[in-house]
Amino acid sequence: MLALIILGPPGAGKGTVAHFLCQKLNIPHISTGNLLRQHARQNTEIGKASLVYTEQGRFVPDKLIFSMLFDRIEQKDCQKGHILDGFPRTLVQAETHQRQLGKRSKVMVIHLNITDQEVIKRLAHRLVCSACHTPYNLITAPPKIAMTCDRCLSKLTQRADDCEEVVMSRLVTYHKHTSPLIAYYSMQNILKTVACNRPIKEVVGEILSHLSPT
Ligand code: AMP
Repeated sequence: MLALIILGPPGAGKGTVAHFLCQKLNIPHISTGNLLRQHARQNTEIGKASLVYTEQGRFVPDKLIFSMLFDRIEQKDCQKGHILDGFPRTLVQAETHQRQLGKRSKVMVIHLNITDQEVIKRLAHRLVCSACHTPYNLITAPPKIAMTCDRCLSKLTQRADDCEEVVMSRLVTYHKHTSPLIAYYSMQNILKTVACNRPIKEVVGEILSHLSPT
């Protein structure tokens, strides 16, 4: 079982990269952010409890994240593995995830490298499908029809937490809590850093070359 973690700041393209990789590797893409937004739309207990955090770009408490994520990982379609985007975000989450998987999984980590300036520029132009969550970018990956998803024709929206003020605070949080994971996984020799300020096909191609045994 492969647990592939896509690590990087908001706007690095984790969702887009994971979307391509899940088709190539045939294992599901699990985004804790998307799971939380789904819970919020369905007005579940997790959705209601997490909204106050997600709207301000703050971390949702681990108890909610773990129960939501580990339920998802236990589902049948994850038997061969899973691709994680948005998790882990802290050392505690990383350690808990590895403990939960135990010896049955091989953990691999891809670190998407990008500058803060590029993140701010990208997120100002990011749109997401309100139904299937396919990400778009008005400059680098625009939809064929304005404000309409190419895949399911639903309306595209801007995420509430993509406004500049919230993005700045998400970047501060990333550097403080999530970037230490780069050293944590590097020391286990399971991390590869990939530059992501280039066409998505090149980024995915490099990641696949890291995953295939030489
Ligand atoms: P994302 O779509 O990954 O940018 O996540 C959107 C928001 O969901 C984040 O700003 C957090 O408020 C929350 N969130 C997502 N994943 C996690 C996590 N692993 N731990 C805590 N909060 C999370």
